Amino acid sequence: MPANDIRSRLGLRPVINVSGTMTSLGASIVVPPAVEAVSAILSEFVELGDLHRKASAVIANLTGAEAGFITASCSAAISLAVAAAMTGADLAAIERLPDTTGLKNEVIIQSGHMVSYGAPVEQAIRLAGAKVVAIGQATSASAYHLAGAITDRTAAAVYVVSHHVVDYAQIPLRIFAKVAHERGIPVIVDAASEYDLQGFLADGADLVLYSGHKFLGGPTSGIVAGPKELVRNVYLQNRGIGRGMKVGKEGIVGTLAALQAWKTRDHDGIRARERKALDYWVMALDGKAGVKAVIVPDPTNNPLDRLQVFVDPQEARITAWDLADRLAAGDCPVIVRDHEVEHGYFFLDPCNLHPDEEDTVAARLTEELEQARKSNLPIATPFEDRLLAKEAAILQWPD
Ligand SMILES: *Cc1c(COP(=O)(O)O)cnc(C)c1O
Repeated sequence: MPANDIRSRLGLRPVINVSGTMTSLGASIVVPPAVEAVSAILSEFVELGDLHRKASAVIANLTGAEAGFITASCSAAISLAVAAAMTGADLAAIERLPDTTGLKNEVIIQSGHMVSYGAPVEQAIRLAGAKVVAIGQATSASAYHLAGAITDRTAAAVYVVSHHVVDYAQIPLRIFAKVAHERGIPVIVDAASEYDLQGFLADGADLVLYSGHKFLGGPTSGIVAGPKELVRNVYLQNRGIGRGMKVGKEGIVGTLAALQAWKTRDHDGIRARERKALDYWVMALDGKAGVKAVIVPDPTNNPLDRLQVFVDPQEARITAWDLADRLAAGDCPVIVRDHEVEHGYFFLDPCNLHPDEEDTVAARLTEELEQARKSNLPIATPFEDRLLAKEAAILQWPD
């Protein structure tokens, strides 16, 4: 870490992120054109409505939609899209939210899509004043569940595309949209982390929502794309509940720059670089006792692979979660993707590496695995203890 690294000035640890685009770690590496754009606008005035018009055109160009809108986050975009579905362009209704008296206010979502991305997706719906109508069961939903839940109070249906959602026996988007459209219900697709900027609209989404700070490498923001009238109704929420979720000039120009950079990004080159890191880690772990590493594709078919690292606690003398925790400790923290670690594996995500950081990741893995092999007792914190400790830690902030 260079001496002038802002993290050392603030007394913060220089995190190496092999976890993914996590809000809790600072999301992603913002691409240089976005960094420049943010810096260039910060000291200037600009007519924000016009800036939003420019943004709309750029989003339209990339997504093939008629219009687009940039908001504070994808989570904000869910709330505002739901709000728009309820209020339309009724300015008085927009100011009355979250009071939905007199409006259609039911929003349908599959139970298997009611996930947490750090906060519950259904809360982002309720935040607008809407009532969540869950359909099906966590592990199965059918078109008839959707058809049967639509009433004259239905304002919208929300569909989540994510590795978080249950990945089997859910209603495919095309069928979901067909059933909703037959009854005139707009479909809002939360595609926060998905690289595909056109496919969901093609499959029947009316509004599609993305995060600006994930794969795109923009500043913290959300992106809405869809038909002009619907997007306008989302934009109009800035006069109501959107005020507290507003994006500033820097967020808009930064996201615009990231979107434009996406068009000319060397996607193949980036993929090849990521593959090199994965291959390097496979080599570094090869022959390590109790460790098996497999390159696996992204579960929602984003053009991206990760390394799945299985740890046999008998052989390796350490559990997968203890290894993850040890890697995350100390002066050179390596944060792995450990959301399923109770199964005895974690992932290494190569998307957010600075040059040469793959070496440090490999060195830290080797170091911790060799130490574990030398320890007298196996390093095996009961998983329940780790769970409860993590839960207790939430309430410790700011200490
Ligand atoms: C990350 C994520 C969100 C939230 O996006 P933010 O832009 O961080 O608010 C919503 N939905 C899904 C599926 C996500 O992965």
